Order: sequence, then C-alpha cells, then structure tokens
Amino acid sequence: MKTFPLLQPLTGRSLAGAETPRSAAPLRGLRRFAARLAESTPAVVELSVLARRSASLRQLRQMASGLWHAPDRSIPRNQQVGSVALVGAGPGCKDLITLRGAQRLQEADVIFFDRLIDPEVLDLAPANAKRIYVGKAPGCHHWPQEKISQALVAIAGQGQRVVRLKCGDPGVFARGAEEIDALDAADIPYEIIPGVTAASAASAALGGFLTERGTCDTLVLATGQTAKDAGNANWIAQLQPGTRMAIYMGVGAAANTAKALIEAGLEKQVSIDIVSRAQQSDQVTAKCRASTLLETIETSGISNPAIMFLTWPQSATKVNSPQRG
Ligand code: SAH
Repeated sequence: MKTFPLLQPLTGRSLAGAETPRSAAPLRGLRRFAARLAESTPAVVELSVLARRSASLRQLRQMASGLWHAPDRSIPRNQQVGSVALVGAGPGCKDLITLRGAQRLQEADVIFFDRLIDPEVLDLAPANAKRIYVGKAPGCHHWPQEKISQALVAIAGQGQRVVRLKCGDPGVFARGAEEIDALDAADIPYEIIPGVTAASAASAALGGFLTERGTCDTLVLATGQTAKDAGNANWIAQLQPGTRMAIYMGVGAAANTAKALIEAGLEKQVSIDIVSRAQQSDQVTAKCRASTLLETIETSGISNPAIMFLTWPQSATKVNSPQRG
C-alpha cells in the first residue's frame, strides 16, 4: 500500500484546533482516532484501509465528517444502480483537490480520469479500483466524448461507484454537460464536486486575485479553441474597461489573440499575463503586451497547459481610450 500524504497537513491543522468534548464516552474513540490521524501519514492511510475493509465505514466517515465539519453528501450505495461523481481534481497538483473529492476517490470502484491531473491523486483510491485513462489532448481525444458518456452509464448501471475525475473544475471547459445528459437519460444518480479551476490557480500563482474591487469588477472565462476556429470576434467584444479575461487553451490561438487586440486598438490598455503549468514545480509565468505576445511565448518556455489573462483595468479608460467599432 502506497502512502499518500495529501490529507495529513489538513487534518493535522483542523485537529489541532478542534475542541475535544469531555463527557461523551463515544468521543474517547474519536479523540484516539483524531490523535492517530494527526500523528502521521500512515494513520491517514490506515483510515482509508479501515474504511474500505470494515463494516464501520459509515461510522468512520461520520467521525471524519465531524472533524472536517463537512456533512456526508455522498449518494447512498445501491447494488442495482451505482452512481457517478464528477470530481474536480484541481490544476495538476495533488494537494489542491477538495476533501470531498478525495473522499469520493476513496469510495470509488472505477475511475475515469483525464489528462492534466496529478497522477498521485489516483493513489487516494483503493488499490483495487479500476483506473481508466480517457485523456483528452487539445484536438486529439484519446476516447471520443460519446464513448466516455456511454462507459459512465454502462459501468454505473452495473451498480459500481464511478468517479469521473477531471482537471480543474468539472464545470469549466470540461464537457460535463454531455456526461450528465447521458446519466440523466439513463436515470443514473450523479453529483458534481467542484475543483480549483486553472484560472484561480494561475491567478494565485501570480500573487494576485481574479477580481479587484474598482479595478477589475468583471471576470470572463473564455476558450482559445473557439477563438482559433471562429476568430476572436466572439470574445473580444466582452473586453471592456474593468474586465479581466482568463483564456483557457489559449496558447495555440495566441497569434489570433494578439492580432485581434492590436486591431481593436487595445495594445496600451490591455496587459497580458500568462501562467504555464500553474501550481506545478515547473510553473512558468510571463507578462507582455499584444505586440510582444508571440515572442514572449517563444522565449519564456510557455507551453500548454497555460492560462492567458487579458486585463483591461478600469483606470485605463481615462488614457488613450480606443475607438472600438
Ligand atoms: N476544467 C479545467 C479546464 C480544462 S480545459 C479547469 O477548470 O481548469 C484545459 C485547459 O485548462 C488547458 O489547456 C489550460 O488552458 C488550462 N489548465 C489546466 N491546468 C492548468 C495549469 N495547471 N496551469 C495553467 N493552465 C491550466
């Protein structure tokens, strides 16, 4: 059994601050359990082993839930019909998955996972859970979307607990809607567990925030893939003073982006920040304007996955406000 240190720092912190009521006898067990959890990583592993093997799974989960102040929201197990949890794994680093997402992985029978997740996150799942890679690279899908949706329905339909593990947040450019449509049509229960989306991860990596009161009050999430296919017209109109736009999958469309910004007269107003592999050990950040965007990408080691922020601060309206058609 591999150790997985993911939960240890968090549980350790919350336990240290937790009050330990004196009277209730059952809480002696909880205190012992808490002390063991706080002690070391193996205790966390032991928790997952116990949780998997013993009949007291529910009790353990309740204890853990109490410690984390998180109500149990998992879909009750049903031998006939399983369930699917669409889980956000965060931006490719294991300690940015949510506790709820980690808990679903610990309960999983089958996991369908994408590209761009930290593979170590999979260690949270039981050793005998099936792990199926359905990775999607831009323009090159390992599994076609339809096949993924059909597989979710088929496996959950056999009574299995399925985790559909997606990078970032499952609701952001992740084709989750197609999957839940298929699950709805087959009457398979599902839940959506949010994750840290790449824009949040990238913004934090830059030491800043997605919105800033009075400077950037509007946040737009856009995809560069659509920009590449349909031109930038569909999103360039969204750029207004006081806007920050986070472009996902934007590196391949950078030439179009630069051209559109220059043609719209936004060279001076809009600053560009790029974060490649945000929150990972080989993270790269760069800052430029439209006219130097391509050169910056070439020389700074930026590559996919990357988030490109276009920021038009409120104050930039006062100077050189462009004529926009
Ligand atoms: N559901 C994901 C987005 C999937 S689309 C989310 O919420 O983040 C894939 C795109 O996400 C990549 O092309 C890239 O633009 C972005 N992305 C994912 N992980 C990233 C990371 N660690 N750093 C920067 N961008 C990332």
